Amino acid sequence: MDGSKINDKQVTEEVLLEQGYRKYSGEDLDIYYSKEICAHIGNCVLGNPEVFEVGRRPWIIADNGGLEEDIRVINTCPSGALKYIRKDGK
Ligand code: SF4
Repeated sequence: MDGSKINDKQVTEEVLLEQGYRKYSGEDLDIYYSKEICAHIGNCVLGNPEVFEVGRRPWIIADNGGLEEDIRVINTCPSGALKYIRKDGK
């Protein structure tokens, strides 16, 4: 699933926050997560446990991965619970 889009449209922070996503800021991108949508499949944690670690606060640290790696893992989320917005506007 493309983590930069909802219904084929580029996501905006406004829409994500409105829909109940929480923001986890990073240097190159911000990651957004919705607990309600999460299916607890674990692709994120398996994909990169340095970025996504359930027992940690905050459980998502975007800067532990880097831009391309974070996007790769976010796009493996099957439910749409993870989204991202790049800071370079791409
Ligand atoms: S990959 Fe997505 S659905 Fe699965 S646990 Fe992570 S956030 Fe939840």
